Amino acid sequence: MKIARDFLVLGSGLAGLTFALKVAKYGSVALITKDALEESATRYAQGGIASVMAEDDSVDLHVSDTIEAGRGLCQEDVVRCIIREGPAQIRELIQLGAQFTRTGSKDFHLTREGGHSKRRILHADDLTGWEIERTLIAAVRNQPNIDIYTFHMGIDIITRSNLDPKISPGGPGDEAVGLYVLDEATGEVITFVGKVVLLATGGAGKVYLYTSNPDTATGDGVALAYRSGAKIANMEFFQFHPTCLYHPQAKSFLISEAMRGEGGLLRLKNGDTFMENYHPLGCLAPRDVVARAIDHEMKKSGDDCVYLDVTHMEGYRIRERFPNIYKTCQSFGFDMTQQPLPVVPAAHYMCGGVMVDLNGQTNIPRLFASGETCYSGLHGANRLASNSLLEGLVLSHRAAAKAIGLLQLTPGLSALQEIIPEWDSGSAVESDESVVVSHNWDEIRRLMWNYVGIVRSNKRLYRARRRIAMLLEEIKEYYWSFNLTKDTLELRNIAITAQLIIHGALERQESRGLHFTLDFPDPDNKGPVKNTVLQDDTQRLITSKPAEQFKNDRA
Ligand SMILES: Cc1cc2nc3c(=O)[nH]c(=O)nc-3n(C[C@H](O)[C@H](O)[C@H](O)COP(=O)(O)OP(=O)(O)OC[C@H]3O[C@@H](n4cnc5c(N)ncnc54)[C@H](O)[C@@H]3O)c2cc1C
Repeated sequence: MKIARDFLVLGSGLAGLTFALKVAKYGSVALITKDALEESATRYAQGGIASVMAEDDSVDLHVSDTIEAGRGLCQEDVVRCIIREGPAQIRELIQLGAQFTRTGSKDFHLTREGGHSKRRILHADDLTGWEIERTLIAAVRNQPNIDIYTFHMGIDIITRSNLDPKISPGGPGDEAVGLYVLDEATGEVITFVGKVVLLATGGAGKVYLYTSNPDTATGDGVALAYRSGAKIANMEFFQFHPTCLYHPQAKSFLISEAMRGEGGLLRLKNGDTFMENYHPLGCLAPRDVVARAIDHEMKKSGDDCVYLDVTHMEGYRIRERFPNIYKTCQSFGFDMTQQPLPVVPAAHYMCGGVMVDLNGQTNIPRLFASGETCYSGLHGANRLASNSLLEGLVLSHRAAAKAIGLLQLTPGLSALQEIIPEWDSGSAVESDESVVVSHNWDEIRRLMWNYVGIVRSNKRLYRARRRIAMLLEEIKEYYWSFNLTKDTLELRNIAITAQLIIHGALERQESRGLHFTLDFPDPDNKGPVKNTVLQDDTQRLITSKPAEQFKNDRA
């Protein structure tokens, strides 16, 4: 089956929904998402969205806090633009119906998080992401130009280079023209044809054993883009959130940084505080510093966790300020008004991603990326807390403006439809060995946690590189032999994402921001700081090709 729409949007978090809503006034939109519409990291965001809203704050201050956290790798023009344009985009969200917490009838309640010099985090109690997701979904559902495809998973981007062997992936003449998408319910692969493709598939926390991310975060956008010849930048910078609830059933439930913003203290089992030994900002130090400090203290003491103590706050204030966290912790048997909470770090945010310019444009024409899946230059080597929702919002707005401008310059959809072949599954059969998927999935997540985690070394990275290369071979063979399932596709994507993180980490022979290696414990400040850019433009790992070539590959 072929479906043609002007704009193809992959993902329904804040980045995808914002873009879909804005372009829908100018053309038809297919909003394709691999789970339920609301399922995304966005819906779980607690702390809030950073923006210059207070009178004692300024764009310059927010810019300098962001650059300070980014450790020399932020691109200043990008940082300035996103921060400057943030308030207008937030006002649009409010006009759509988003309700942020206020103090009294007029002013917003602004909170503070690690690395911010001012109170500038707008929030909706501790359910900010849900409030944004809910608002955008309501607006998208009201837009007749948007067709929504839930439980549909993007497999690969279709580019000109897939259709014409003379064009090399990501090279001159290449451009995005569609997507192959798996309809989970029927197992059918649908060919979506479009004039513009946006990747808004979120992060990749699932590449690690412990993560705050939802199950959807399998690095799909990065893997799809890489296979198409797009440039991928700075994947070695993966943020570990310092404080996730330590409980076997809690699936790394996140304890918001705003709790430390409200004066919460990190303590060891014996009650001692320790952050003052690591950073002048103590518990409000940037996340990488806090995560490494906790990792160090846990390794030193052999304890399974440290503790976050907010018992200095009155009980009613905790319940009022953190209703969701309070209720969830209570359901696991912890009353945070009375006792410190056991916490551990977990993989939280992918700072690297598909390299884009200030309009979300990748190096492949008509292929855009926004939100956590992209690398715009805002975060550099470390993301400042609550800057990610802001990035997705502003970048999707800018990408939409750029994409709308491209509509007229494109061949008609029917011309494209004619030249793009349908997917051909060749001689693939039903799998009788699904254990390969579950085994490899577990192995990748564990090896990434143990060898490519908070503290790295060359020895561990080489070990990880060898293992991942073997696993990729096995996955490739499995991929071509058996019918596609969501699990197989996700496995292939986390394996490629893991490989990119490992390669990035080996390339960066210094410690900077979120990348800390025992072999090079200091930043290399001798020359200009470099981005690690990876591009698979010569040999594709496992790629989608036109039907004829699929057949040849399988023969
Ligand atoms: C627990 C938690 C708390 C957080 N708190 C904050 C916070 O307070 N402030 C802040 O700024 N940031 C926070 N973050 C980070 C922030 O939520 C995310 O970076 C941001 O929401 C990402 O938005 P997105 O639209 O890029 O991706 P997401 O919201 O993750 O959406 C991705 C979408 O893509 C879909 N998808 C993925 N792959 C495919 C595919 N192959 N085919 C089709 N669909 C696909 C998913 O199903 C999903 O709909 C938090 C993250 C987590 C996990």
